[in-house]
Order: sequence, then structure tokens, then C-alpha cells
Amino acid sequence: MTSIFDGGGILQGQRRNQVDILSAWLRDARCTVAFTGAGISTESGIPDFRSPGGIWTKMAPIEFSDFVRDEEMRKEAWRRKFAMDATFAAAKPGPGHTALADLMTNDRLHHVITQNIDNLHQDSGIADDAITELHGNTTYAHCLSCRKRYELDWIQSRLTPDFTPPDCSECGGLIKTATISFGQAMPEAEMASADEVARDADLFLVIGSSLVVYPAAGFPTIAKQTGARLVIINREETPQDEIADLVIHDEIGPVMQLAVAGV
Ligand code: NAD
Repeated sequence: MTSIFDGGGILQGQRRNQVDILSAWLRDARCTVAFTGAGISTESGIPDFRSPGGIWTKMAPIEFSDFVRDEEMRKEAWRRKFAMDATFAAAKPGPGHTALADLMTNDRLHHVITQNIDNLHQDSGIADDAITELHGNTTYAHCLSCRKRYELDWIQSRLTPDFTPPDCSECGGLIKTATISFGQAMPEAEMASADEVARDADLFLVIGSSLVVYPAAGFPTIAKQTGARLVIINREETPQDEIADLVIHDEIGPVMQLAVAGV
């Protein structure tokens, strides 16, 4: 891949043109929506799922039905959660996150739909009501029955040595991180909100998503079909590159920082 860094930091011609186009579209748009995936957080030290070395290359995901059905799976889920937690807890917003926060401050970005669960958009200063989390949030947990919220410290202090988690203190239900697992129903309010903003957007930026996880990956197509310009920024090809108006195969941080500087 030819990168924005090639040539000792001197921007290559075609890439410069692409970034200039993105800046111009950001300047002109009435309603810009960013749709982010795990790729925006790799620059913060959180591995994505599908890149070489990504999480799925090391372990298979735990399906929701297995979590509910099987105590051993629940123990395994919490073992994995706390094995990864130091990485998530230490992560700070990266250049892609801060570029989006700057756009939001300057009224050039109106909403973020994210598949990420790491809370880094909130940590970058973007308000909760401007973020739709399609796959939940891994920085806290809740009861699957009564929805009571639990902080991770509370759970960790009650885990047995074999990682058996506590049950809900309110109703005895199962406690799970507040994320959406494979096979788990999508959150209705968040799906409706994402649908509404995707349809309203006239500029829709896909940033760091392989666009293979549905139904989330359907929103860029909805935005395009309802009149938005579709931009995809990802270091690898995606299945929706062919319908996009602009595709930048490069590193998110430098591309977004340059694009925002040019707005
Ligand atoms: P994905 O792993 O399928 O795709 C990430 C894409 O980003 C890949 O195509 C990769 O090439 C690209 N990428 C990675 N780093 C990049 C960089 N610095 N610059 C440019 N491109 C880069 O992730 P996805 O599409 O978000 O879908 C999978 C699921 O992953 C989501 O449901 C999400 O819940 C979950 N997830 C979230 C986190 C997180 O919250 N940070 C981490 C891992 C997985």
C-alpha cells in the first residue's frame, strides 16, 4: 500500500488530491455523519478484529446463546474481558478520534455512529447524545434481565479464582459487559437512531471498518441510497468501495488530521 507517509512525509499527489476533496466536502456538507469501526482505535493501541494479529486471529468469538446457556462460556468471557481490560483502560483517543472531535466542535460533524465498544469517542469530548453505539460499551456491564448497571471494579472484586462472575444483586440475573455479542439482538433505539441520521446525512464517512458485520454495515449503503456522498477511509479494501464516491486506502490518523486542517 502506498501511504500518506511515503516520500519522507511528503504527500503524494493523488493522496493530496483525495484529502483536499474530503476537506472541501466537509466544508460544504449540511449534515456529516461519521461511521466508525475498530480501525479508528488501533492507533490507540486497541487491536481490531480482522487485521493480521487482530483479536479474531487469536480466539473465536463467544456467541450470545453460548454465554447464556453455558457457565463455562461465561467464565471464559470474563477471563477474556479482564485479560484485555488493561489495554482498554489505558487507551486514550487517537488522532482519528481527535480529528472527529475537532470537526464536531466546529459544527462540521453532526453525529457519530460507532461499532466500537471502547468509549474513546466520548473520551475525546464528543457528547453522549451525538454518539450512537451499535454494539454497546465494554467499559461497564449490566444485568441481562433487569438492566441494572454494574461497574467493572465491582465485578472484578467479586469474581472467584475460576472467574465465576456474581449474579445480579437485584434480580439474580446474568451479568454481562454492556456489549452486543454475535447472535444477540441489536439495540432497537440505537438502530432507529442510526437509521435516522444515515438517511439525513449528505456526507457519510466510514472510518476504519471492514464493513462485513451486518446489520451495522448496512448503514453506509442506506446513506448512499438516500443521497449522501459516501467516503471510505480504510487501509484495506471493503465490500462497499465500489459504491463510494471517494475511497482513501491509508492510515486514518494522518488522513483525518490533514483533512480537518484543510476545512
Ligand atoms: P474490523 O476489525 O472488522 O475492521 C477494521 C478495519 O480497519 C480493517 O479493515 C483494517 O484494515 C482497518 N484498519 C485498522 N487500523 C487501521 C488504521 N490505523 N488506518 C486505516 N485502517 C485501519 O472492525 P469493524 O469493522 O469495526 O467490525 C468488527 C467489530 O469489531 C465491531 O462490531 C466492533 O464492535 C468490534 N471491535 C471493536 C473494538 C473497539 O471498540 N476498539 C475493537 C475490536 C473489535
